[in-house]
Order: sequence, then structure tokens, then C-alpha cells
Amino acid sequence: MRLQGKVALITGAASGIGRESALLFAQEGAKVVVVDVVDEAGEAAAAAIRANGGEAIYVRADVANAAACENMIRVAEERFGGLHILFNNAGIMHSDDDNAMSTSEAVWDLTFAINVKGVFFGCKYGIPALLRSGGGAIINTASFVAHLGAATPQLAYTASKGAVLAMTRELAIIHARQNIRVNALCPGPLRTELLMKFLNTEEKKQRRLVHIPMGRFGEAQEMAKAALFLASDESSYMTGSEFLVDGGISSAYVTPE
Ligand code: NAD
Repeated sequence: MRLQGKVALITGAASGIGRESALLFAQEGAKVVVVDVVDEAGEAAAAAIRANGGEAIYVRADVANAAACENMIRVAEERFGGLHILFNNAGIMHSDDDNAMSTSEAVWDLTFAINVKGVFFGCKYGIPALLRSGGGAIINTASFVAHLGAATPQLAYTASKGAVLAMTRELAIIHARQNIRVNALCPGPLRTELLMKFLNTEEKKQRRLVHIPMGRFGEAQEMAKAALFLASDESSYMTGSEFLVDGGISSAYVTPE
């Protein structure tokens, strides 16, 4: 068991990458705090872990809200006695996110409030808890779009993930000698609700698939395995890194037929 005795808090854990990571981390021995804003699915994720013999609780927190983030960390410490793994994973991709001319200020602000300020608040309140526990690992979910531009734009989302990468590097350096490692997970296009809602026609899906050398979307479980590596001591010499798990998309110039 790779996370035996560890306490992990995962935001956006009611679905997709976060949910699969919560299940996998618990299987590997971690006590898991499932955080989300969708209560029913969040409770269900925690219940699924308990049904498998693991330990988990659901805490509602909007990651864009400072008081809610302070509270989720407090609950982790009170309930499970500490915090060792902070997975800042919650994020949105707004359906009205487009190019500079058509993206509204409201869409831009909401995207940054959740995708960027949410990571900041997780760290603002989570890092003191990690220090009290003697250190640990932070994983911030960014995206391959922070590395590559696309003609099918989602400008606010792309910029927000660039900010997550920059923040990850600086956090990693600040805390490098305090036994806290900070890495970014950069998923490729996944077959999760977030992207499938955005690519809502077969034509839009095919427009993306043509750029993926492996010829398929990734699965949330595949991201959970990568997150487990970043959360565990197996990645003990990694900090400030961008861990691209993207089916080869960021290496491709021309993809196979
Ligand atoms: P998802 O929509 O399945 O899961 C995201 C979860 O975050 C949901 O449960 C949602 O309720 C929660 N959430 C949204 N706003 C929140 C808030 N304010 N506070 C707390 N929770 C909130 O999507 P996913 O694909 O699992 O996405 C997880 C992360 O991966 C996101 O940061 C996303 O940007 C990133 N990502 C996804 C893809 C992809 O193709 N799906 C690619 C690269 C990066």
C-alpha cells in the first residue's frame, strides 16, 4: 500500500479525475477527504470508499470561497489527525469560454475564481496543515492546454491552467526544503463529463481526436494512477514538475493515420 497512514484531501472529488483518485488513494491506504459542491455525488464517492473498507468523509466546499477552504482543511485535521496529500483538482471549463472577443468578463472571472484562486486557497490553508504533519505532497491539476494553443479556443480556461503551472513552480521552490513537494498533473483530453459536455457533437469530438497520437480520449482512472505516483514517495525527487499524461498529444506534429 503506497499511501498507508496518509490523509489525502481531494477537491472536485465527486466526479472524473478526483473521484477516481479518491477511490484509488483509499485503496492504497489513505484516509480521504472528498471535497466538492455536488453533495449527492460527493457523499456517494465517500460512501463507495467506506463500502470497500476504506475511510472517507465528504465535505462541501466551493474552492473559490476562502472560508469554505479553511473549513475543509480544519475538518481533515480534526477528523483524521493531519494532512499529507493535498490534491487541488477542482476545475471548470465554461461552455461560453471562447476567443478574446466573445468571452465575457463574467466567464473569465468565474473560471479564474475556481481554477486559479481555488488552487491558491487550497494551498493558503492546506500548506500550514501539511507543515504541522511534517510535510507532504501537493498536486495541482493543470492541463496540456497550458502547453499548446488550439484554434478551437477556450481562452479563460487555457490562461487559468497556465497560471496553475506558474503557481506550482513557485510553490515548489518556496517549500522545497520543508519536505513539501508540489507538482502539476497535466492531463490530455479525457472522456470525462467536463470535456464531453464541451465537445457535445461527434464532429467536435473528431476534431480533437485527430490530434491525439493514441487515437482516443484518456480515462479518469489513468489520471488517478498518475496522481497516485505524484502523491506517493515513488516521486520523492520530483518537485515543480509538469507531469504530462496526454496520449502523446504534446509531442505530435503529424499523427498516425
Ligand atoms: P469533472 O467535471 O468530471 O470533475 C470536476 C469536479 O469539480 C466536479 O465534481 C465539480 O462538481 C467540481 N467542482 C467544480 N467547481 C467546483 C468548485 N467551485 N468547488 C469545488 N468543486 C468544484 O472534470 P474532470 O475532467 O475530472 O476535471 C478535473 C480537473 O482536470 C479539472 O481541473 C480540469 O480542468 C482538469 N482537466 C480535465 C481535462 C479533461 O479533458 N477532462 C483535461 C485536462 C485537465
